[in-house]
Amino acid sequence: NKLNVALIFGGKSGEHEVSLSSAASIYENINKDKYNVFTIGITKEGTWLYYDGNAENIKNGKWVELANKNVEINLVPMGNKEVGLLFEDGSIQKIDVLFPVLHGPYGEDGTIQGLFEISQIPYVGCGVLASSTGMDKLICKTIYSEIGLPQVNYCSTNRWTFRQNQEEELNEIESKLNYPIFVKPANLGSSVGISKVTNREELLSGINEALIYDSRIVLEQGIDAREIEVAVLGNDEVKASIAGEIKPAKDFYDYEDKYINGASTYDIPAKISEADMEKIRTMAIKAFKSLDGKGLSRVDFFIDKYSGEIFINEINTLPGFTNISMYPKMWEATGLEYSNLIDKLIELALDTKK
Ligand code: ADP
Ligand code: MG
Ligand code: MG
Repeated sequence: NKLNVALIFGGKSGEHEVSLSSAASIYENINKDKYNVFTIGITKEGTWLYYDGNAENIKNGKWVELANKNVEINLVPMGNKEVGLLFEDGSIQKIDVLFPVLHGPYGEDGTIQGLFEISQIPYVGCGVLASSTGMDKLICKTIYSEIGLPQVNYCSTNRWTFRQNQEEELNEIESKLNYPIFVKPANLGSSVGISKVTNREELLSGINEALIYDSRIVLEQGIDAREIEVAVLGNDEVKASIAGEIKPAKDFYDYEDKYINGASTYDIPAKISEADMEKIRTMAIKAFKSLDGKGLSRVDFFIDKYSGEIFINEINTLPGFTNISMYPKMWEATGLEYSNLIDKLIELALDTKK
């Protein structure tokens, strides 16, 4: 008795291409003896299309042309209509589990999770609350400081206040933080709109740049840091993987390095002390729990190169999932192989106590 799993990929976010790669890897590696896999792509314009699988065409984007445009995707129960895929001949394909392989806005931020909730189909990963808070760097900081997770010094501003009192705001930021400062839109990922600034002039342009993407801005003390990541998995009972270290090729781990030239390297396990490893794994679970995380997340940390202090950086509720991404690689190193990890995530989605 196979389960019908719908992989949902693509999406309207800047991380569309990353999602295609993640979905292609999952499609290739998911156990086809256990699951009937239905692949649903969301175009950059936001159109949902049914594409009857082929990993290569998902990855290279050809699925948009090849998709069967006559299959309706009905995820919202209307009247007595069943939810799932409605084929041309009128037959309905019921879906048992939804597997969002989406990153960024509309995929990772709780919006699609809200649609899934309404459809009443179990889905992989975090719910609405963890997804939306996890996507917002400013809200997360408030929660982490509440539960005592260490963070770099930070402050914030927003479009309205900044436009009203630009000079005052810049003075305030400079009084709280030293250069270099990282300027980040509150609600984005993949390093989009983020800049590292070293003087007032750059601070101003960095803020204006970040304000293109969001009306709220986070300003962080820039530190010289090692970047450590941990994979978290579970619902009620949560486990953390062995931590890994990302070694960015450039000044910071920007979009190009992450997804285009991929020049960064990594160590799994991270070459850190056993005590730091344990601290980081415990902190990762604490962060995940504080947002009411479910299923999976990757939690990212900094270790100050000079003081050795550990700081939480951010949580990613739908981390990159290609077979060379950190999330699955860290599980592999912990003893959970890629296709078993997929099984586990589906099992967690179906957990009724979730
Ligand atoms: P995103 O959600 O886009 O990945 P991050 O907050 O993780 O954004 O920032 C992207 C990268 O910028 C980090 O991986 C790191 O290389 C660098 N960075 C961010 N904040 C700091 C900081 N406070 N100090 C030093 N480097 C930072
Ligand atoms: Mg992020
Ligand atoms: Mg990051």
